[in-house]
Amino acid sequence: MRRRLIVGNWKMHKTAAEATALVHRLSELVPQTGEVEVVLAPPFTALHAAAQALPLSRPFALAAQNLHWEDEGPFTGEVSAPMLKDLGCQYVILGHSERRHSFGDDDKKISKKVHAALRHGLRPILCVGESLSDRKKRRTKTVVTGQLRKCLEGISKDELRTLTIAYEPVWAIGTGHAATPAQAGAVHDTLRATLARGWGAEAGEQVRILYGGSVTPENVGAFMASDQIDGALVGGACLDPQSFATIISLAQRVAR
Ligand code: PEP
Repeated sequence: MRRRLIVGNWKMHKTAAEATALVHRLSELVPQTGEVEVVLAPPFTALHAAAQALPLSRPFALAAQNLHWEDEGPFTGEVSAPMLKDLGCQYVILGHSERRHSFGDDDKKISKKVHAALRHGLRPILCVGESLSDRKKRRTKTVVTGQLRKCLEGISKDELRTLTIAYEPVWAIGTGHAATPAQAGAVHDTLRATLARGWGAEAGEQVRILYGGSVTPENVGAFMASDQIDGALVGGACLDPQSFATIISLAQRVAR
């Protein structure tokens, strides 16, 4: 059985001091994560503070929200995989729709980022998802499987096992209109079938597929009850410690 994973994407929120306070509060509210793995993704500037604020038992792992595919060089404003490893990151979110739509991250660039992360032992959390117009045109499956295949080109079976996929319909991110568990589950099935076709059923079975898009304490239980959904990528609701702690505790309690 795949271990459930809850990821909090802080986006461009929290100074270093605020990150310290949030990690301390979360550590009080969620002393043990047990069956559920929890990953926090602060902005680059707060990663060090968040790492320092984690208790020795480290109930949470850290993720970055992006990286550059080169290790170093003349890339003003960019941050590389070795730099993130050095800060204590274990994961990196790649291909988030906000990066795809506002910062020119296309499948080719994302693929280079996935390879860079894997080269340095960072576990990618690869986001895929269709726009509202794609969904209306019934192109959801074509779009997400295309993104998956292009972003994972050249990945070995062993590398695939370390990867997490987040299905994030663009129309559900930050809108308050989450997909239904049935809508998400259907796309998750398609994604898993694509993984099985490309890398074999056994490797494909090991990849966690998360749902993301307006996940809240109120709706997370329904997503967790689905055996097609291995966890959640949470944006807005992860900035409030009580909400995020409730989401984690429901992920621990709700049986599939
Ligand atoms: C996200 O940013 O990945 C996300 C899912 O945001 P929200 O939960 O706010 O929709």
